[in-house]
Amino acid sequence: MGADSPRTEECLSGIESCPQTVPITECQCPRCGSEVRMGLPRAATVKSITAEDRPEAGNHRWKVRSIACQNGHEFFVLFEW
Ligand SMILES: [Zn+2]
Repeated sequence: MGADSPRTEECLSGIESCPQTVPITECQCPRCGSEVRMGLPRAATVKSITAEDRPEAGNHRWKVRSIACQNGHEFFVLFEW
């Protein structure tokens, strides 16, 4: 929390037609399937989502971010950027 500004969240909730200006990805919680919005760097590609061990960012262009769904399940998103 804290990485995404409240202003960005506000923009997202009201405007669905601005994916070009706000690079947000919706992913599903692996445990309960609820949708979670996360901001990714522009042109980032999600490689995997897991609720198990934190994946290794074995490539220097990969990054791992941990997020939590509305039900408090923490999971990891591996993405390439
Ligand atoms: Zn969940």
